[in-house]
Amino acid sequence: MKLIFLGAPGAGKGTQAEVVCKELNIPAISTGNILREALKSGTEMGLKAKTYMEAGKLVPDDVVIGIIKDRLAEDDCKNGFVLDGFPRTIPQAEALDASGIVIDRVIDIEVPDEKIVARMSGRRVCEQCGASYHMLYKHPKVEGVCDSCGGTLVQRKDDHPDTVLDRLRVYHEQTEPLKAYYEKQGKLKIVEGQEEIADTTALTLKAVAE
Ligand code: ADP
Ligand code: ZN
Repeated sequence: MKLIFLGAPGAGKGTQAEVVCKELNIPAISTGNILREALKSGTEMGLKAKTYMEAGKLVPDDVVIGIIKDRLAEDDCKNGFVLDGFPRTIPQAEALDASGIVIDRVIDIEVPDEKIVARMSGRRVCEQCGASYHMLYKHPKVEGVCDSCGGTLVQRKDDHPDTVLDRLRVYHEQTEPLKAYYEKQGKLKIVEGQEEIADTTALTLKAVAE
């Protein structure tokens, strides 16, 4: 199964993507994680992406399209994958279509803007492995420490309130039009984000299986 997860920043698409991947035994591919990894290891790609990311802007299409093409060509993607955070613009979606990869379904996780802003302030990520947590919804076992690798949990620079508003604006302007794009292809499924992660997961799994 080849899936795309759409949704505003902080809507929980990454969390849901991970659950579905485990269930279906396919990789989750997050352009945000790949870019943060590149940034941390100081590669050329990382340096290019840094200023955009920290300002809450999108990294240029050619950079992310290149990343995704390389990643999807790897062996573990043969039986399917979940794209988390790609495509984010119409040109990215067109590039994906042009590459001949046929997406089965697009899951859009919907959460109203007011809730997003409140949620983002509680979000934390592992400095070391990139795993994500939330102070209210998804606690680590030990405060401030990553369950899977023991790394320190930090707030992402782009999760600070001012940047969150910029990212939401970018989402509405550049990413939301993808809903109509995939609706036209008959692939769009909408999932209303719930208060509890497990409730959203139940709806997501249903949307994937339908
Ligand atoms: P979130 O979904 O919470 O916004 P991500 O981890 O998906 O966060 O992305 C973080 C940042 O990485 C984005 O704000 C953007 O700068 C960059 N980025 C990730 N994916 C893309 C993409 N497909 N196109 C352009 N920029 C991207
Ligand atoms: Zn970790």
